[in-house]
Amino acid sequence: MNQAFLLKYGEIALKGKNRRIFEDVLLKKVKEALKRVDGSFSATKTRGRIFVEALEPVDEKEVMEALQTVFGLVWIAPAILTEDNGFDALAAQVIEFIEKSIPDRHITFKVDSRRTRKNYPLTSMELNAALGEKILEAFPEMTVDVHDPDIYVSVEIRENINFYVRQYPGPGGMPIGTNGSAQLLLSGGIDSPVAGYMVAKRGVEVHATYFHAPPYTSERAKQKVVELASILSKYLGPVTLHVVNFTDIQMYIYEQCPHDELTIIMRRYMMKIAEHFAREDGDMGLVTGESIGQVASQTMQSLLCTDAATSLPVYRPLIGFDKQDIIDLALKIGTYDTSILPYEDCCTIFVAKHPVTKPRLERIQRSEQKLAEKIDELYEKAIETAETIIAGNK
Ligand code: ATP
Ligand code: MG
Repeated sequence: MNQAFLLKYGEIALKGKNRRIFEDVLLKKVKEALKRVDGSFSATKTRGRIFVEALEPVDEKEVMEALQTVFGLVWIAPAILTEDNGFDALAAQVIEFIEKSIPDRHITFKVDSRRTRKNYPLTSMELNAALGEKILEAFPEMTVDVHDPDIYVSVEIRENINFYVRQYPGPGGMPIGTNGSAQLLLSGGIDSPVAGYMVAKRGVEVHATYFHAPPYTSERAKQKVVELASILSKYLGPVTLHVVNFTDIQMYIYEQCPHDELTIIMRRYMMKIAEHFAREDGDMGLVTGESIGQVASQTMQSLLCTDAATSLPVYRPLIGFDKQDIIDLALKIGTYDTSILPYEDCCTIFVAKHPVTKPRLERIQRSEQKLAEKIDELYEKAIETAETIIAGNK
């Protein structure tokens, strides 16, 4: 008798070749997640699901936590895999499993058994009835409801037998790598880590670029972003993080351009540099944590100006989110506590008191002409001196 886990994934829009790719990637991601858990496992694709068997006793909670980071899983059921030692042995094991899995048993249930091995002595109907009776005997507080039960006691009779009583939601989405890759502009704030999570959930592999401004921003501020990338790597896998020294560009913009346009011009250069790394990493788009109207640089006019700086599509998964919704998600994925650490950000150091809220692209471009003398050189230097870190490499 071994612990096992049944993993179910979404099947909508999965046909032919796509389905196979989806399943293969998902299986690989499940195996990677299980490497973080103490114990050894076998994981196989079977009948539109993934079946994980623990080859030694494992901590169920730890396994569940790891599996719940795998995008593409719709639900996860801890199960027992056992040999066929006759009905009485099976009933005893099911009862023991219910006792362990469900502390409060004032619930309704229905036994749902299936057999692919037709030489099993009981039909599915007979097994449902016999097992139901045993469960009622063992737990008088439980009652049968065949129409809308609180739990299904699912039993599958194959070569071996497996059964499960509880299903927990997985993170949903699609396995990472099934939908290309994108470059995330990752700051130390609350929003951009959540934005990265959101696109990754749709199967996009995420690379990241962070801009800092030493000595105006500290080593600790940088470490905070590396830490955010490491937290994200639980879901994303190891994250390639380009750390760009943005000081000279910022100073130059500060010297040459109207101060109320600083943020928007800075943001445009961030986009251009992130685009460089996107092309280097083979990405098909940029991702930011912006949402409409959150700050001056995120009005519709500002976003238009930011977009115009790059020829790649800019994905903003938080576009329609209120701040509180973003915070709730940051709490859920575990980035919030790190995001609120009070280290300075390069954008806040050079901000104007009254930034333009409705910048006009032609005006911004005219202001940028004042950068003509040195900006190409500074752009090249920022790219050449960038440091690439792999965050979350175990
Ligand atoms: P966040 O919480 O993600 O920092 P924010 O509300 O502080 O967002 P802004 O500072 O206007 O918003 O930044 C908007 C977006 O620009 C961020 O979500 C991020 O994608 C990108 N960005 C801002 N600053 C940086 C930076 N220093 N390095 C990389 N990307 C940045
Ligand atoms: Mg920010």
